[in-house]
Amino acid sequence: MSVANVVLHVADVHKRFGGLHALADIDLEVEEGQTHAIIGPNGAGKSTLLNVIIGKLAPTSGQVVFDGTVLTGRKPYQINQLGIARVFQTPEIFADLSVLHNVMIPALAKRDGAFKLNMMGSLAYEKKIREEAEHMLEDVGMLSSREDHAGSLSRGDKRRMELAMCLIQHPRLLLLDEPTAGMSRHDTNTTIELLKKIKSRGMTKVIIEHDMHVVFSLADKISVLAQGRIIADGTPDQVRGNPKVQEAYLGG
Ligand code: ADP
Ligand code: MG
Repeated sequence: MSVANVVLHVADVHKRFGGLHALADIDLEVEEGQTHAIIGPNGAGKSTLLNVIIGKLAPTSGQVVFDGTVLTGRKPYQINQLGIARVFQTPEIFADLSVLHNVMIPALAKRDGAFKLNMMGSLAYEKKIREEAEHMLEDVGMLSSREDHAGSLSRGDKRRMELAMCLIQHPRLLLLDEPTAGMSRHDTNTTIELLKKIKSRGMTKVIIEHDMHVVFSLADKISVLAQGRIIADGTPDQVRGNPKVQEAYLGG
């Protein structure tokens, strides 16, 4: 018997956009500490599923449960406060601010209101956050860019910065929507190494990915989505040999 702890449970989720059944019968269990990949061709419903999990979209039916708490019906910021952070397919950053400030903001946003009444406490807190942000930037290999304008970064660097913006929140669950989209092979490999490093710290991750190289390098478990349905799931080896998966990718 498995004693694995299911931290995220997507239960019988459907999502319709008018006549389009974008998600149908989605059941997904993500275990604590694992990297769970969701793959599938373009238009399969991957981003829709991620947006349902983070509360950006309401499912037409079904629900999402995180660590015993029903997420469905909660707002994205409330879901974020429960310990879920996400990296979007298109990075959401503050282009006019420095890289360092971008990374400090998610941590400062969590600041307890009481700090604002205590100037010295506030300054000490800001110093602590600055140090932590520098540490996160070092982790993602961007410390030397800390004073650069975020808007001037390359696409790969923006993604790395955004990852640091997530890590500083110390999430229990990190969701990544195509974290290597648009990156060169070199940047992709750097990002894979970085995600492996995060994995070794035991953070649970759901990664949505089109790039097979990334998925097979990282995932403990893979769910394959095609036309809004999960057509296969299992370990990378199980999924790789599945004829339905090959058909969805090659025949579709
Ligand atoms: P993927 O991320 O796998 O490429 P998406 O989840 O973005 O796929 O899209 C799944 C399907 O749902 C596509 O057919 C897409 O056109 C449609 N879709 C996504 N978002 C919306 C929306 N807000 N309104 C209507 N249709 C949408
Ligand atoms: Mg997508």
